[in-house]
Amino acid sequence: MNTDRESVRCLSVRRPWANLIVAGYKLIENRTWTTGYRGRVVIHAGKTWDHAGAATAVDLGALGMDSLDHCAAGYLGSVRLDDVHAADDCCTGFGDPTPGVYHWVLSDPIALSAPLPGRGRLGLYSCDDADLVAAIARSVHPTPVVVQVNPIVARAAALGPIQKNTWKRRRDPDQLTLLEIPKRKGRK
Ligand SMILES: [Zn+2]
Repeated sequence: MNTDRESVRCLSVRRPWANLIVAGYKLIENRTWTTGYRGRVVIHAGKTWDHAGAATAVDLGALGMDSLDHCAAGYLGSVRLDDVHAADDCCTGFGDPTPGVYHWVLSDPIALSAPLPGRGRLGLYSCDDADLVAAIARSVHPTPVVVQVNPIVARAAALGPIQKNTWKRRRDPDQLTLLEIPKRKGRK
């Protein structure tokens, strides 16, 4: 077994909760166990459909997410796991206040352009599937766009704002600006 392969941490969540997480509607996940891991977590949508989640999707106005037809299964995208803490009258909204429950605080959901099929597992598991690892890496760090900077704009930015007085002093007195009306010469 090659242990050098890159892997991602994954969490399998029932549908449509998984879909609501990746779409950014739900950023607290309730679990009865905790983890010391922090960082990117890939969200896997399980086959199981949860009707309570569908009702919540309607309440949230999450279009289509109350229907199995619009909620893909498989690997949907990733979020960042920022914190895990015991429920303590906190995280109102999605945080389950039941004692013994842990709130997993998520942020920065990034959906894959297309879900990748695959089976989920229990717990916060590692997956070294090369296609999944590459797709998640691409989604989180898209190919940088080379920005073409107009050299005139770059020079203006480097010079800073034009000083009004300097502009006046250097101006050719015979040169008209767009807003000036030419003075009639030769008439007194
Ligand atoms: Zn909380």
